[in-house]
Amino acid sequence: MPATRSARQRKASADAGELAVVRIDVSADDSYAYKISCTQCEVPRPGTGTRAWSTRRPGEDNGYLPALDRWILHLASRHPDAGAPCLDYLPEARARLQERRESR
Ligand SMILES: [Zn+2]
Repeated sequence: MPATRSARQRKASADAGELAVVRIDVSADDSYAYKISCTQCEVPRPGTGTRAWSTRRPGEDNGYLPALDRWILHLASRHPDAGAPCLDYLPEARARLQERRESR
């Protein structure tokens, strides 16, 4: 049986660590979109002001890893001392991003 959205959200939040806010949106076609925001970082928004750093990747099961990979790299470069469980996967995240770039 597939995991529920709230179970997925709990797991992703636990992996992403304390600096992350993880949200899973359900798209019109019932697929999931993972959004991971950083509670510490702000990036300039075109026009006025700033917004929280965030990454959003659609797709049901395969949306989780691309979003988490981007988050892992954000953590590694900006918050290396955060100690989030997902930092254990940094080498894999780098390899996966590399792979995706090369298969394009
Ligand atoms: Zn950050």
